[in-house]
Amino acid sequence: MKTSIQIGKIIGIPIRLHITFLLILPVFALVFASGPAPYGFAEVGSTVIRYAFGTLTAVALFACVLLHELGHSYVAMKYGTKIRSITLLLFGGVATMEEIPRDPKIESKMAISGPGVSFVLGIAFLLIYLLLEPIWGNSPVTRLVYVLGSMNIILCGFNLLPAFPMDGGRILRAHLARQMPYVEATHKAAYIGKAFAFAMGIFGFLVVSPILILIAFFVYIGASEEEKTTEITVTLEGVKVRDIMTKNVISVPPTTTVSELVELMFKEKHMGYPVVDDKLRGVVTFSDVRKVSLEQRSKTLVSEIMAKKIISVAPEDDAIKALRIMSQRNIGRVPVMESGVIAGIISRTDLIRSIQLLQE
Ligand SMILES: [Zn+2]
Repeated sequence: MKTSIQIGKIIGIPIRLHITFLLILPVFALVFASGPAPYGFAEVGSTVIRYAFGTLTAVALFACVLLHELGHSYVAMKYGTKIRSITLLLFGGVATMEEIPRDPKIESKMAISGPGVSFVLGIAFLLIYLLLEPIWGNSPVTRLVYVLGSMNIILCGFNLLPAFPMDGGRILRAHLARQMPYVEATHKAAYIGKAFAFAMGIFGFLVVSPILILIAFFVYIGASEEEKTTEITVTLEGVKVRDIMTKNVISVPPTTTVSELVELMFKEKHMGYPVVDDKLRGVVTFSDVRKVSLEQRSKTLVSEIMAKKIISVAPEDDAIKALRIMSQRNIGRVPVMESGVIAGIISRTDLIRSIQLLQE
């Protein structure tokens, strides 16, 4: 399902708007248009101007959030990390990166750059406000500049809370990682992050702030997820695809019928097969089979239902790369190719098994 749309590219990074962002933007515009001073335009006489400035404030605020994310991304790119995209969603932005460098120095620089951008923006807007206020007084423009100034300072401060995986929490982990193993530092930072999320949730409940409760919820989930990912990444360190792939690959020709394939699945107990004639043509899995009705299975060929877009790995690739491909594309197995020939197949099961063995 497509949940976000791309609106453009900045320094080569695709900028996307998430569906939740498109829903929340009018809400923000409305809140600013009808809110009291100094954060709203409620007492501005003209309805048109009120709503125009409400919308402008909301859009400008999200532009500032985007700049915050670009701050993170710029530093990450400087250290060679690929940024796949930046997505604006419900309350903020997310930069999707290929792999966050596991060097505490780089990580803290990356984490601080976002709040740094927000801080500079905040100070700049507040200075402009100080210049404008004596001339234009309480005009909508001065109000807009004031809101952007103070919001950016709040954004900076809030993100610096040591609640992993928020920016402050990342800085904390980087700091801890200089004194202890990376996984342990992550556990500690995630523990503190979860405690913060818990406190934030309770506070949000007491002051009846649904936004705070939601943020607390996301921080909690985020902390647990990243803790898990880090653990797996560190465990698989140094493990190559060659070490854990299944070597004797059973493949099927494209002319196999779906019912023949089902039989093979029962016999071999594998749920996915490469489709090969003179070369690799695709991968067919049980979920492809399920899309074909029972009566159609003897008349349908695997070549009609297989996934043709093949993403493969090389035997010398890191096992973690295969895992990343699987989770990004939501697939269960990746063929392993060596000089144009299929050398094996690596599945999620292979990976999970080796993670379990390595963690013993
Ligand atoms: Zn940030």
